[in-house]
Amino acid sequence: MSARTWRADWDALMRGDGCPMCASRGAAETEHGIRVLEGSFADVYLQKRAPQRGYAIGIWKRSHVAEPTDLSREDRDGYFTEVFAVGAALRRLPAPGRPLPIELT
Ligand SMILES: [Zn+2]
Repeated sequence: MSARTWRADWDALMRGDGCPMCASRGAAETEHGIRVLEGSFADVYLQKRAPQRGYAIGIWKRSHVAEPTDLSREDRDGYFTEVFAVGAALRRLPAPGRPLPIELT
């Protein structure tokens, strides 16, 4: 049994070299998702193939960062405020077993 190791390009990715998130920054649609929020701090993408409907991810849009902990407090607050706004909006959408917010006549 071999030991798991980091990818060979891990250090480069952490620096942002060849970062696929940065490469798709600003795109309205990517291979993986469709942008549902173009924010000041984050773009949020509804995923095309996800473990459950409504799964979305937020992408920091100003520069490369490896982790949210790399952000300043102001940037982190802006990022999560925008991402959480999308999360709250998605929770208001109808889901199986939940009544529709409209009346059908
Ligand atoms: Zn990046």
